[in-house]
Formats: sequence, C-alpha cells, structure tokens
Amino acid sequence: MKEITIKIDGKECKAKSGQTIVEAAKANGIYIPTLCHYDGLKPAGTCRICTVKVGGRNMAACTTPVGEGMVIESNTPELEEIRKAIVEMLFVEGNHMCPTCEKSGNCELQAMGYRYRMMVPRFPYLFPVRPINAKTPKIYIDGNRCIQCLRCARGVLAPDGKKIFGLVKRGGKAMISVDEELAAALTDEQAQKAMDMCPVGAILRKEAGFKVPIGSRKFDSAQIGSDIE
Ligand code: SF4
Repeated sequence: MKEITIKIDGKECKAKSGQTIVEAAKANGIYIPTLCHYDGLKPAGTCRICTVKVGGRNMAACTTPVGEGMVIESNTPELEEIRKAIVEMLFVEGNHMCPTCEKSGNCELQAMGYRYRMMVPRFPYLFPVRPINAKTPKIYIDGNRCIQCLRCARGVLAPDGKKIFGLVKRGGKAMISVDEELAAALTDEQAQKAMDMCPVGAILRKEAGFKVPIGSRKFDSAQIGSDIE
C-alpha cells in the first residue's frame, strides 16, 4: 500500500492508500465516532455518526477512502452537533431502557449519549412496536434496542457463509430478523461474538447475564473513544 499524506483537523497525518478515513484517523490517534463500523468488517455506512467534511461536503468517514492531500474536518462544532442529533434520533426511534439492559455500561449507544452530554432528545419518542425473539437456544434478539447497524449481519455467518441476521421491511418499519434454523446451530463462541459485536443490547446471550456488575463495565469509567484519542 502506498503511503500518502492527509490532514485531519489541521494535523498532518500519514495514511495508506486503501484505508478509510476512520481507519487512517485511528492509526494517527484521532477518534472519529462510529457505531456501525467494526474493525475487520466491510463498511456499511448505515449510522452516519462518523460524518466528516471533505472539500466542504459531508461524507461518511467509515466508507470514504483516503486520497493524497485530502483535507478532512472532523472535530468541529457543526459536525459534533450533527453527531449528537444522530445519537438522539437513534434513542427516540427505538425503545432503549438503559437501567434494565444487560448491555448497560458496555453499550456504545449509551456511551455516545454520555459523550455528547445528551440529556433529553430534541425529537419526540416514536415508541415503535417491535418483537423480541427468544425462540433460539443461545440468544435472544430484542428489536426494541436494534439500531440497524448490520454488524451482526456482516460479522456472524453460518459455516457455509449464509447470513443468520438481516433486516426486514423498509424505512421506519425496518427491523432486525434472524434465521431461526441457522441461529439454532450457533456455537457458544458465535453467540458470544454476536452479543459482543452488537453495539447495543439487541442481541443477548441466554443464561449468561450480569457476570460483570454494572459500575465495573467498559464505559462506566472510560469515555467511548478514549482508547484512541
Ligand atoms: S441486532 Fe445489534 S448488531 Fe444487529 S443490526 Fe441490530 S444493533 Fe446492529
């Protein structure tokens, strides 16, 4: 890969051609907030919280490859406000009951809410009616908490490469679905992987809750992104 030079928020950075802006920023110790991005998975660009400005245009940093001489703005009041608004939208378009969620303290959406000092969302709550699927032996899927990032659909596959998770319906009615037959064959490791990959508490393992007490979890003491910036 060819080494190139880019600028992020005025800082000159070395990057490799083929890297996305998110990857190049991370390699240079710059955190660009993401929710649908997951290291090692093909980018999906579904959440748009990584929106940056390149040449005056808003772009998704997780899907946009770097180019020689690219000038990127990320940490500006305007972009941070857009990100805060996206976090608020994600909260109101689902049903997120943090105090009763097994993922509390490990949830990336909750951690984003804290990062952006979200108090009360500026948008009205939609209170969608979404199903909970507890039919498979190792996991249950709570559509109320799903932010449709598609990490599960991209990262947890059956041995023959078939998708176990996917989205059904469109627009505001879109929701996560699971192939119950394939999900019934999930190993313990795959079930754990699915739960760990999910940024929120939409995929949880059965019979394995609250092993780490609330208060001692990942984001209870460290702000999301502090491992990079
Ligand atoms: S279940 Fe979790 S990982 Fe899958 S799309 Fe929903 S939020 Fe993303």
